[in-house]
Amino acid sequence: MAHITLENIAHSYTGNPENHEDCALKKVNLSWRNGGAYALLGPSGCGKTTLLNIISGLLHPSRGKVLFDTEDVTGMSTEQRNIAQIFQFPVVYDTMTVFQNLAFPLKNRGRKQKEIEPRVIELAKILGLEKDLHTRAQHLTADSKQKISLGRGLIRKSVNAILFDEPLTVIDPQLKWELRSQLKFLHKKFGFTMIYVTHDQTEALTFADEVVVMYEGEIVQTGTPEALFEKPEHTFVGYFIGSPGMNVCACELQGNQVVIDGYMLSLGRKYPDLGSNSKIEIGVRPEHLRLVPSDREGLPVKIIKVDDIGRHRIVRVVFNNTKFNVIVSDMTELADGNCSLVFDTEHTHIYVDDHLVSGEEL
Ligand code: ATP
Repeated sequence: MAHITLENIAHSYTGNPENHEDCALKKVNLSWRNGGAYALLGPSGCGKTTLLNIISGLLHPSRGKVLFDTEDVTGMSTEQRNIAQIFQFPVVYDTMTVFQNLAFPLKNRGRKQKEIEPRVIELAKILGLEKDLHTRAQHLTADSKQKISLGRGLIRKSVNAILFDEPLTVIDPQLKWELRSQLKFLHKKFGFTMIYVTHDQTEALTFADEVVVMYEGEIVQTGTPEALFEKPEHTFVGYFIGSPGMNVCACELQGNQVVIDGYMLSLGRKYPDLGSNSKIEIGVRPEHLRLVPSDREGLPVKIIKVDDIGRHRIVRVVFNNTKFNVIVSDMTELADGNCSLVFDTEHTHIYVDDHLVSGEEL
């Protein structure tokens, strides 16, 4: 296994990496720790597969270097890099049995039967394929075929990294959770470096120790699931993670006060002069807002919608033209839909041109 470093990676499919707008990847610098469990999270088209294929060697970047430990592997093939990659759709040999499919990567490298058999049986047990070991793959469901694909990726202990490209897309929703926890278990047991590409925040946050969030060909934040939730460094992270995502609305800064549509709010922090041409916004998650009766202090808002989703309610409120989502577990009687909105100031952030700006405590 190796420590993987991406140095100033950029990629353009049209062949002109000088043109920033043309680039599927703009400028990526990143380090993947040996043995880490990572997720690469972002919406469709943000460049996740492009980045994964550059790590595995399926794609040569227009610019930059890929290092495994200190070795420059940019020009090397996937095989030379010793990488296992698992794709969205299963790659299995239909005419072979499950056992033969799982054994294939080891057999291909000349490993002895006495080494192959226990490893195949061990993985088949973990993946729930034990009873099908001697069945031909063509007779199995799409779920089971994808389990075989996962197994083939995991069978060799010596790989430098295992890359997963949306591997659970074809899996039945009921089974997704089960397979995800099996992958987590396998990560703990064998200590592989795993990089898991997905556009699904639940998959990313439950699988990974560290999540890399991509947006429009750039990495906007790398952090633990908790850091992404508590302190989004980019408005996109706030919006993309959470359900509903972070409330982001325009504001102004006047001295140490934040002004939202004429309402003054003190966050207890001082901000540097942010310039008059910048876009300034306040970001606060629905979980960090509270509704209290309108005779108490807070932003005077009107309730426009309440969605009861079982575990809690999502309340949509409006102040002048600014709307917020608020998550409430119990709803205090709020007369005629008017109430006051209270901010948890410690978890209320200021963004300048979409990037988090940390203020200085007053
Ligand atoms: P998805 O989740 O939909 O697979 P992604 O985040 O993995 O999306 P990529 O597949 O890496 O994104 O695509 C990034 C950008 O590069 C997109 O604008 C896409 O249209 C473009 N792109 C991807 N592959 C090619 C290709 N072979 N030729 C030209 N453009 C491509």
